[in-house]
Amino acid sequence: MTTACTLCPRDAADGSRICPRHADELRGWLAEIPAQARLLEEEFVAPGGGPAQGRLGGTGRAHAPAPVDLRVLTLLGPGHADPTSLDDDGTIPIAVLLGAWAGHIAYHYPAATRDRHGTARIQPCAQARPRHGESITGWCAWHRAYLPFTLTLAAAADYHRALDHLVHRLRALTHTSPRITPRAAPCPDCEAFALITVDGRWGITCDACGHHLEPNAYDAHAAHILQTVAAG
Ligand SMILES: [Zn+2]
Ligand SMILES: [Zn+2]
Repeated sequence: MTTACTLCPRDAADGSRICPRHADELRGWLAEIPAQARLLEEEFVAPGGGPAQGRLGGTGRAHAPAPVDLRVLTLLGPGHADPTSLDDDGTIPIAVLLGAWAGHIAYHYPAATRDRHGTARIQPCAQARPRHGESITGWCAWHRAYLPFTLTLAAAADYHRALDHLVHRLRALTHTSPRITPRAAPCPDCEAFALITVDGRWGITCDACGHHLEPNAYDAHAAHILQTVAAG
């Protein structure tokens, strides 16, 4: 049975709460967040880093450009957040936000265990443990692995909104966004010449109507258009 995406009027993929386009966005963001965090580190935290020093104008003032650097240090730093209040007011460190969401996801993830009598039981995972450590990269790898399950949760739309917010905050700080490439064929749904590929994302999306295509579906569609044009 198909249900509507909890973020837009399109159909959600089978068993999932959001549509393939919004799922693809999540996949892209989980790959982008570690890269954005590395950029932040390089630009603002590394000694003699570029933009932060540029803003100082090389005048060698004794005080650091506090507003930007403190914000960045907080974002990149360790810390703890109350998992019951996932409201991201812009002060929660990235790893903490990702860890709190992992806790929520793990709680709903059915883990098969055996009790001391050898009886198999299904119960929630007690804790999320990223295999590559509780770093931003480690947590993003964990979230990518659990994504198919996360998409089935009632909180999938909130999860999308939280990562959307985080990615856009990071992009504003690093002034870096993934490259967008326009595609030649018109949208098979609304016929606008608005199909785009975003670096790091698998599918192709219509910027006008939100229609989403897998790459091989796009190739077949483009080949068909070409044939139609060639046939006059
Ligand atoms: Zn959607
Ligand atoms: Zn379209």
